[in-house]
Amino acid sequence: MYARMLLLRFPREIVDKPIVTNLVRTYDLSFNILKAQIYPRKEGLMVMELRGNRKDYERGIQYLHDIGVIIESIAQGIRRDDERCYQCGACTAVCPTGALHIQRPEMQVIFDPERCSACELCVKACPSRAMIVTLDRSLDLEEAV
Ligand code: SF4
Ligand code: SF4
Repeated sequence: MYARMLLLRFPREIVDKPIVTNLVRTYDLSFNILKAQIYPRKEGLMVMELRGNRKDYERGIQYLHDIGVIIESIAQGIRRDDERCYQCGACTAVCPTGALHIQRPEMQVIFDPERCSACELCVKACPSRAMIVTLDRSLDLEEAV
């Protein structure tokens, strides 16, 4: 599962098109809309988490790009301070994407930044404050496609 938090800007010419429906039906993606401001004949704005397998995600992003949606990642980066992490595993219970998971049989808590949607749930769950929000907004459209 691949997931990213995105800020989408819809030009007013396409604001009434069933774009999100197409993402689901054609590209097999799921989404969680956190904020939307869509008005007829005005630029629309939507903050959503988009999920799916990596290939479908990339195709969906390409579709948005092709129809003129401006895409910005608003996901801040998340990193783990390995010196603070004592491998308790609490974060794996809240991580929705599997970015934090337990590797068996070693029972080691792995953090895979590629799968992280920067939802910050682990930041609150970690008793030792090992999961840290960074201001790295490195994921741009070029990287996403
Ligand atoms: S921010 Fe933490 S909980 Fe959220 S997806 Fe990334 S690793 Fe998982
Ligand atoms: S909750 Fe914190 S200390 Fe525990 S495994 Fe996750 S990052 Fe490490």
